[in-house]
Amino acid sequence: MDARYDFFAAAMAWSGDENKLNGGGPIWAVFDQDAVEREEWDPRPPNVDLDGYFFRGDTLAELAGAIRNPHQTLAMSGATLEETVARYNAFVDRGEDEDFAKPTPRYKIQRPPFYAAWSTPILHDSLTGLRTNPKAQVIDTRGQIIPGLYCAGESQGGFAQHGLGRCLVFGRIAGRDAALNGGIA
Ligand SMILES: Cc1cc2nc3c(=O)[nH]c(=O)nc-3n(C[C@H](O)[C@H](O)[C@H](O)COP(=O)(O)OP(=O)(O)OC[C@H]3O[C@@H](n4cnc5c(N)ncnc54)[C@H](O)[C@@H]3O)c2cc1C
Repeated sequence: MDARYDFFAAAMAWSGDENKLNGGGPIWAVFDQDAVEREEWDPRPPNVDLDGYFFRGDTLAELAGAIRNPHQTLAMSGATLEETVARYNAFVDRGEDEDFAKPTPRYKIQRPPFYAAWSTPILHDSLTGLRTNPKAQVIDTRGQIIPGLYCAGESQGGFAQHGLGRCLVFGRIAGRDAALNGGIA
């Protein structure tokens, strides 16, 4: 089974707060001083926003306690962060990420100070939408063509294609068919 997006489902799981229906976030990228040096980052303003979007701590518990953001649903627990990092570090030792199948986890999060950066997930494709036939005509729930209605792009389901190519190809097909057949065929 394809588990590449399991991390995303876990990160966006609803917390139970009906006032915050935008998923479980925010998501924090947690890393250590070794990562900063390895990647040659400079985690200081103006590269980072210290006003709620970037935090630092000398221990993982201190880091968790420092994280305060208006979009935060729950305060981060220091014990949970410590446990999570310890589990991830064990995956590095084993060379296998048992939780999310990250390919060959290589670097432990272990050398202070520790950092947390706001991490915004993005969806490139909706991967679902209205059912259409290969002419981009919309199909109803009984499998019948809806005359004159076409769909292309992100709102079109199926065909498992990505991005602008899908939009352009099916947009052209839809336009051509509508011009030739008046959308009725
Ligand atoms: C961050 C990101 C990076 C991407 N990178 C790439 C890439 O490198 N290459 C690639 O091929 N694809 C990429 N994609 C995918 C690509 O951008 C989309 O597939 C494409 O833009 C979708 O076009 P669309 O016209 O179907 O929908 P959209 O571009 O989403 O257009 C829908 C429009 O409808 C409007 N709208 C919504 N509701 C209403 C309403 N009720 N009334 C009136 N208007 C409304 C919206 O405001 C919007 O302007 C990327 C997508 C994202 C999010």
